[in-house]
Amino acid sequence: MRLPPALLAALLVIPLVPHAVSADPVAPPAPAVRDFGNGPERNEVAADVPERAEALAAQAEQPGTLSHDRGYPRRTRLPVPPENPADASIKLGLVPHHGIAPRLNDLQQRGDRVSAQVIGRSYGGRDLYLVTVTAPESAAGTREQERIRERIENDPAAAARDRKLVKRYKAPVFVNANIHGNEWEGTDAALRVIEELATSKDPKVADLLARTRLYFNITANPDGRVNGARQNGAGFDLNRDFVTASQPEVRAMRQIMIDAQPVTMIDLHGYVNGTLIEPTTPPHGANYEYDLFIQDTYANGLGMEAAVNGLGYTVEKDGVYPAQIPFRDSAEGWDDWPPIFTPQYAPFHGAVAAHTVEIPLRVNGSDYTQQPVEELRRRSAINTDVAAAAIRATYAFVRDRHDRLIADQIEVFRRGAAGEPSKTVPLGIVPGFGPEDVYNTTFPRAYVVTGRRSEAAAARLVDHLIANDVRVERARHAFRADGRTYPAGSYVVDMRQPKRGLANVMLEAGADISPRVDAMYDISGWSHGLLWGAGVDGVTSLRVQADPVKAAAPTGSVPRTPGALALKVTDAKDVLALNDLLAQGTAVTWADGAAVVPASARAAARAVSERYGVAFTPGGTASGVPLSQVRIAAAASADELFTLRELGFAVTPVSTAVLNAGYDWSGTDVLFVSSGLSYTALNPAARAALDAFLTAGGVITRGATGAAFNAAAGLLTATAVAGRGDANGVVRVLSTGGHVGGGSPDHSFVYSPRWFTGLGPEVTVEQSYAAEGPLVSGHWRPNADGTGGQDAARGQAAVVSGRDERGAAVVLFGTEPMFRNHPKGLFPQVAKALYWASSVTGAAVKG
Ligand SMILES: [Zn+2]
Repeated sequence: MRLPPALLAALLVIPLVPHAVSADPVAPPAPAVRDFGNGPERNEVAADVPERAEALAAQAEQPGTLSHDRGYPRRTRLPVPPENPADASIKLGLVPHHGIAPRLNDLQQRGDRVSAQVIGRSYGGRDLYLVTVTAPESAAGTREQERIRERIENDPAAAARDRKLVKRYKAPVFVNANIHGNEWEGTDAALRVIEELATSKDPKVADLLARTRLYFNITANPDGRVNGARQNGAGFDLNRDFVTASQPEVRAMRQIMIDAQPVTMIDLHGYVNGTLIEPTTPPHGANYEYDLFIQDTYANGLGMEAAVNGLGYTVEKDGVYPAQIPFRDSAEGWDDWPPIFTPQYAPFHGAVAAHTVEIPLRVNGSDYTQQPVEELRRRSAINTDVAAAAIRATYAFVRDRHDRLIADQIEVFRRGAAGEPSKTVPLGIVPGFGPEDVYNTTFPRAYVVTGRRSEAAAARLVDHLIANDVRVERARHAFRADGRTYPAGSYVVDMRQPKRGLANVMLEAGADISPRVDAMYDISGWSHGLLWGAGVDGVTSLRVQADPVKAAAPTGSVPRTPGALALKVTDAKDVLALNDLLAQGTAVTWADGAAVVPASARAAARAVSERYGVAFTPGGTASGVPLSQVRIAAAASADELFTLRELGFAVTPVSTAVLNAGYDWSGTDVLFVSSGLSYTALNPAARAALDAFLTAGGVITRGATGAAFNAAAGLLTATAVAGRGDANGVVRVLSTGGHVGGGSPDHSFVYSPRWFTGLGPEVTVEQSYAAEGPLVSGHWRPNADGTGGQDAARGQAAVVSGRDERGAAVVLFGTEPMFRNHPKGLFPQVAKALYWASSVTGAAVKG
């Protein structure tokens, strides 16, 4: 809930009501600020970030989710973590993370309806628990359920014709709790409802469990639950990560959705008063089968609203406002445009009703520290009641609408498999559905993914698609499509497939939606097709012999010719390989975006080629400057720290406070500044030490904080101009400079974009915004006074480099090359900036 004031205005749910039919006399108290907000100065690092090796070990253990070889119940004995008296849940009277496993172990013994399992670990190494509640099944019964699920997905036309299928199938329902760690009560409500279901003698419950499977992700973010933090231990907002899946918790949720294939899901959040229940305002994601989605989602939304209001809490007595539904009650600002949120990702795996639910009474932030414990517990008790009411309403909805929900899921997959065009939803399909709600896309016949820029990048994209349950094939022979020839081995994503919506939402360029709405909730642009470094073409015809692939083919190679070897840095894998060589002490030289490895290090080159899948070329003669390991001091956001470490750099986090306490610069080659460091706030000693570093070190900056640092420290002659604060998306760029820009993709990513004017003679333009656009997809309007728009950025410098008077090598980014670890194809720009800054300035002092 840390919203910079500039963003606040853009993040309000605007209570205009062109299509509102609110019967509610009590206006929801504005601002209904979505707790999703995440500005330029975004992620702070959580206190307990474990060492990288530990984190990687945790990720490597991510198992599959649901076995189909055993029946239910399964009665797994969950390991109980050590008691942690510092768990932030305790103050609220809620269950701490260490208390969950004992509760679930007990519930599994109280009858034959509850099964619990560990489905992975958080970044911080804590267990993630999935609970399945259903009537007992034999192993054969479980196998039959899986056969039906598989048929619905993979042979939907036949599934649609099979009238008996829906009668035999248990509708899967997914309840996701506590994805934001300091929005606690979804977990407690889930445990309460599980207990009710486990022990109920009500025949309606028996009937429910005979016809459904209820899946509960008890806490999606145990690190945050324990720490009282929104983010996980790596400092990531997990409810922004679904297109990227950089975090283990998100990969676990993704696997639940793939394996369970829920028809309905709810994601339990806080805190918005009155309780906020989706469906959303426009813009609506263009890749959903929205006619089906809005009918089912609105119906369940109304049911949850009635259940929540039916609890009887009032404004006067309890401070609880009536529930609100953004689709009905607001004009814009709470949209389902980007598939970065759980309920906006789940529909691609067949959820036809999916909701964020924001329970009402705030217990986090300043309330957590300032309100009396008694008041906090009063609020948490009400919040738990509200979340439980939403869960009960949802399972009742699925029980009552069982056959139709399954039929609608089948229809989603059937349209995809048949390659039907994007459907235009009829106006009035539900009350209030107007022209402002209609969004469409055009599906190509297929996408072709090639390694024309980087084979490693193509392989990464293919593996990501497969992990998302998108079907990918590989061409046996060269083929032609839309006038181009593609080599044998090119990857093909046939858009006639059940999950074509997911394939398209990742691979398409996206759309510039600036003309249609003013307020967006979070990002409006992303694109694996444009930002991940692979060659991706949508084609209108497909005639090719191709075989399904389970994983991308290996991409590493070392030429047989003797002599030195070159490694061009075009992909993150190249960076990893190079950093590995540098860590081994290999004598590497650096020039023009490529490293040259001497013939004597051929064995080491071969090893990293195999390890990372990178391709070396004949190296010629080494002409660059010696390169050694780059040691970075970084005042950066959590996603940038994560990305720099993921690339294999040695990173020490710093800040104004760290430098003011006395920082030893002798182990630093490059300072990275994008967050939490102000030159003017440094004390004289810290400033003197930094100035001394700047005579021999390099500096990379990004964003407002970085630009202010450049100006205050007197580095490059350049004026940073800010675009509108909430502008974001994919932009067209022109790369010109040799140190950073050369060989970069034709697109970049911006959030609160900046450009540089008034450049001094020492400054080189590495990359500029294209003269047309420059926004390809996303949202970028000018400010109210007409400044800061796309047109102002046209042709302007987006990334610049230079040597300042003292000798420091400096690179200024006006773009966001590491945003939430998403734009993988841009990471090499940062690495090249670091290698250049380190080699040209560091060389002198390193001798
Ligand atoms: Zn939340």
